[in-house]
Amino acid sequence: MERVMAEYIWIDGHKPTAKLRSKTKVLDNKIEDVSDLPDWGFDGSSTQQAEGHFSDCLLKPVYFLKDPIRGGNNILVMCEVFNSDGSVHTSNKRAALREIAEKYKDEDAWFGIEQEYTFFDGVKPLGWPDNGFPAPQGGYYCGVGSDEVYGREIVEHHMKACLFAGINISGINAEVMPGQWEFQVGPCGPLDVSDQLWIARWLLYRIGEEYGVSATLDPKPVKGDWNGAGAHTNFSTKEMRDAGGLQAIEEACKRLGKKHKEHIAVYGSNNEERLTGLHETCSIDEFRYGNSDRGASIRIPMQTYTDGCGYLEDRRPSANMDPYAVCTALMDTICNKVPAEV
Ligand code: ADP
Ligand code: MN
Ligand code: MN
Ligand code: MN
Repeated sequence: MERVMAEYIWIDGHKPTAKLRSKTKVLDNKIEDVSDLPDWGFDGSSTQQAEGHFSDCLLKPVYFLKDPIRGGNNILVMCEVFNSDGSVHTSNKRAALREIAEKYKDEDAWFGIEQEYTFFDGVKPLGWPDNGFPAPQGGYYCGVGSDEVYGREIVEHHMKACLFAGINISGINAEVMPGQWEFQVGPCGPLDVSDQLWIARWLLYRIGEEYGVSATLDPKPVKGDWNGAGAHTNFSTKEMRDAGGLQAIEEACKRLGKKHKEHIAVYGSNNEERLTGLHETCSIDEFRYGNSDRGASIRIPMQTYTDGCGYLEDRRPSANMDPYAVCTALMDTICNKVPAEV
């Protein structure tokens, strides 16, 4: 017998933006397969997932990774939430993604998500003066030096933790607003990218505890002439990645244009504060796609044009989006080959 600590992580019913919750279960054996993990429960009345008089919700483990905080054979476990009668809980957006991922599995969809976020030190962004503002934006993006970037130690710690866990993190960078950063997860399939992004967010908050710094996914943490925070979602199918794929990418853009409102509805709350048409965004009321255009809703990267195949970047999702919902919407719109017009 080897006792291991399993951190059961789930997404709550908080509105308009769901939050992460977790608690620890001590198990009697090292876990080799997700099916070895027992179901568990929690008090849904404390997470906006149930009424007080009938409050038990079910946690079903669906994915696990090595725990970089506790090390050893300890693990982080992603769970789906079910009602006590076994039906899918309304807060459980992963269930729909599971279905659509299975339906379109032959498309071999890949996602790469760029998670932007902002560190806060109490009530102000990390590194900002107690009164007033730092120098205007311009020198901070991918900057270096203690007068340009704030929180690098935490960022490095987080990236190493993601690598140890086995998250497919593909990079990090300092962002346009001081105290703002980005990490990317992918490319990988819809369930992997979403589970890993949620766990990477959990690690960011958890590691922040050790520095007394919080991270927020607020799409517009500082009003005014400061960049918001998004979660650009890069997408491709096998057809798009293969020679001549540019045509499939352009068709996908046209389909997305017909469903703009439906997508915006699941691309994160308060996104209208960020998608203003300024600060490298397209207005929330418009839909445009274009070659290398960072002011468009969808950007087709220059390399994709050059190669005639590759991927598209949906720049609309906000930092606080739910990747389960965004990946579901993208697959539903793009992989459904029934002509969109009829
Ligand atoms: P940007 O130039 O917009 O800042 P990044 O380098 O931050 O782009 O992020 C691009 C993301 O797209 C990465 O996560 C990368 O892994 C992912 N990506 C690369 N190729 C593909 C592809 N064919 N399909 C989906 N995602 C991809
Ligand atoms: Mn990026
Ligand atoms: Mn960015
Ligand atoms: Mn981008």
